[in-house]
Amino acid sequence: MRLWQFNGGLPALAEHKNESVNLPIEAAPVPAQLIYPLRQHIGNAAKPLVKIGDKVLRGQKIADAQGMISAPIHAGSSGTVSHIADHLIPHPSGFSAPCITIDTDGLDKTLDSTPYADFRQLSASELVSIVRNAGIVGLGGAAFPTAIKLDNQSKSRHIETLILNGAECEPYISCDDRLLKERADRVIEGVEILLHILGANKAFIAIEDNVADTFKSIQTAIANNGNSLINAVQIPTIYPTGGEKQLIQTLTGKEVPSGDIPADIGIVSINVGTVHAIQQAVIAGKPLTSRIITVTGEGVTTPHNLDVRIGTPINALIELCNGYTKLAERLIMGGPMMGFALLNDEIPVVKATNCILVASKHEVITEKQAMPCIRCGLCASACPVSLLPQQLYWFSRSEQLEKAEKLNLFDCIECGCCDVVCPSHIPLVQHFRYAKSALKVKNYEKHSSDIARERFEAREERLARDKAERAERSRKKKAALKNEPAKKEAIDAAISRSKAKKQASVEDKS
Ligand code: SF4
Ligand code: SF4
Repeated sequence: MRLWQFNGGLPALAEHKNESVNLPIEAAPVPAQLIYPLRQHIGNAAKPLVKIGDKVLRGQKIADAQGMISAPIHAGSSGTVSHIADHLIPHPSGFSAPCITIDTDGLDKTLDSTPYADFRQLSASELVSIVRNAGIVGLGGAAFPTAIKLDNQSKSRHIETLILNGAECEPYISCDDRLLKERADRVIEGVEILLHILGANKAFIAIEDNVADTFKSIQTAIANNGNSLINAVQIPTIYPTGGEKQLIQTLTGKEVPSGDIPADIGIVSINVGTVHAIQQAVIAGKPLTSRIITVTGEGVTTPHNLDVRIGTPINALIELCNGYTKLAERLIMGGPMMGFALLNDEIPVVKATNCILVASKHEVITEKQAMPCIRCGLCASACPVSLLPQQLYWFSRSEQLEKAEKLNLFDCIECGCCDVVCPSHIPLVQHFRYAKSALKVKNYEKHSSDIARERFEAREERLARDKAERAERSRKKKAALKNEPAKKEAIDAAISRSKAKKQASVEDKS
């Protein structure tokens, strides 16, 4: 199969996969508490369905989606709801936000579920509804509610190609690789479910060429399954080839235009962990209550790949990995390129958590002082989105945010390639993240003030209309009163005429 190459990227990035890639997935025990932030996905926060003191079972819905872009949350084990209050959440800002806490009872009792062994008996919309109710979001880190990606019927768009993203390009992370090695059959069945939903006529499972044994596992699973629409493809190991738009370009040669989504060019791309969750929701009737994550880095004693209940506090996982080493310097959720630092280890694992990196000083922290930009252009050559990081940096730093937006700041995937190559050690991505947040606040405020203005204008219009209607009613009433004497005269005249007629008739008879 012919492959294409996207612009830029880093072919020689140190992978650091060996620390964890050969470690089989182990099931992490249920912790004493499970903590669920109500916003674990893009869109509206979920709305609690439980109150303090309620008993819950594993798989029970404890918070429901609010609106289309949202996802429900399910309990990961049985226990009692002990808090519904603010708690530190995994977010670069270090914010606290509303969370539901369950004190687990150690029994791990599960709610009865409805499995569908023969998914072909179900329509696409029934399957999408199962995915929505199972609370599945993009497990590759994006956390976008998956049902929206799959709902093509209501949007009447045609999907030709399904891409399964097994390109785990970020250093240190190996959870998707282990999933593909150990649960390949489930992933392939998940692909068949997706083909049935989307009506696509081909599916590619993309795997980087640095994990040949994983590629073989998937090839074997495809051969066992026998579905000729599914193909495994080895792609070059170039960071960030697992970026959605970069992967689509590598496999199809097509570029997703700025501001568009892959479905606009007939493609749906889904992370392999998400496909596994879909298979489990449909075939086993299990909502999303656990996921596989990698715990690694020089700061943790024994790295692991763990099957973890979502909501597990990170300190419980560190304990399972035999604690911190004396090199532990920083706790990062995600990888060293696109992850973010956490304030402490009481923060829970959420649906989007694919890695906990306990980094030593030299693993992530650059001691080098940022220097002025020397306009070397290396950042632009490395950018996989063909942006101009140097100009974006200039406009972000000088608060000329609209100019940065015009240069497609929002297309930046925060991959960090520009940071890595910059000889002046400028933390470019930090500037871009700041500029994006500031623009979002500004746009939100503008949107809010536009809505307030529209409401004010609508109210003024309504008051003016009411006033005009009142005036019209009053005019009509006055006119009616004015015409009243004439009407009375006409009636009196008619009565007189009638009386006169009767009198004349009586006189004639006599
Ligand atoms: S972080 Fe943004 S600007 Fe920098 S290389 Fe990646 S996409 Fe380009
Ligand atoms: S790589 Fe660094 S120094 Fe070179 S142009 Fe970009 S921002 Fe400036």
